[in-house]
Amino acid sequence: MLTDYHVHLRPDEDDTPPERYFTAANADRYRAAADDAGIAELGIAEHVHRFAQALEVWRHPFWVEQAVDDLDAYCEFLASARLKVGIEADYIAGAEDRIAELLAARPFDYVVGSVHFVGESAVDQDRWDVWEAEGHDPDRVWGRYFEQLAAAAGSGLFDILAHPDLVKVWGAGRPGPERDPRHYWEPAVEAIAAAGIAVEVSTAGLRKPVAELYPSAGFARLCVEAGVPFTLSSDAHLPEHVGYAYDEAVGFMTGLGIESICVFSGRERTLEPLG
Ligand SMILES: [Zn+2]
Ligand SMILES: [Zn+2]
Repeated sequence: MLTDYHVHLRPDEDDTPPERYFTAANADRYRAAADDAGIAELGIAEHVHRFAQALEVWRHPFWVEQAVDDLDAYCEFLASARLKVGIEADYIAGAEDRIAELLAARPFDYVVGSVHFVGESAVDQDRWDVWEAEGHDPDRVWGRYFEQLAAAAGSGLFDILAHPDLVKVWGAGRPGPERDPRHYWEPAVEAIAAAGIAVEVSTAGLRKPVAELYPSAGFARLCVEAGVPFTLSSDAHLPEHVGYAYDEAVGFMTGLGIESICVFSGRERTLEPLG
């Protein structure tokens, strides 16, 4: 089986209102793309920060600017469009109870947990750039990012850990750490394995400056050794990116000995053969 669970129905741009994107016609475009790619399980995971209810969790200026749509209307739309009901929810340290409340109140099939922010600083945005905030020191940026990732996994809030080494997103545009990356990966993988959360193989990295899959092979190998289950997703923001570069991703996974992927319904996980 193939899945695509981390999918957005619209680009991360201004002027992308729900009345234009949360429609039966747009859902059909995504479903047609999934059918063409042989993807049996299609689910949507819109960013939590696009919804007004997210401001009960966190009031970062970026969220205050973005949080306008209604989360309950979104969930109802996905169910009516017969799409798996997911969400991409940020891990915000200190806001665990408020995140749990927001998630528990809705009928999600799965929750994709992400680390886009470390403190008030962003890992993958020029605005609020974490590199600026951490003095352009790769050891501090990587250290803080993977600490936050471990905390996200350990929080128990999420079913799937998204783009687990997002910190590499800028590729050669930012310095890499001098230490072996395993120094950062190992404690995170330990927390992931202890929590029992699934890790996402995401082809989004191939479309970013780093131009490789998330996670790196070394990180994925540690997960395999620790018995961590995987999901497979494109992080598409357009129908044409559904199932993006799946041949490469499936080859990567089978090369690491990964034979199954997670399928979710009502936040219950089962494993299905990959491919
Ligand atoms: Zn993300
Ligand atoms: Zn995403």
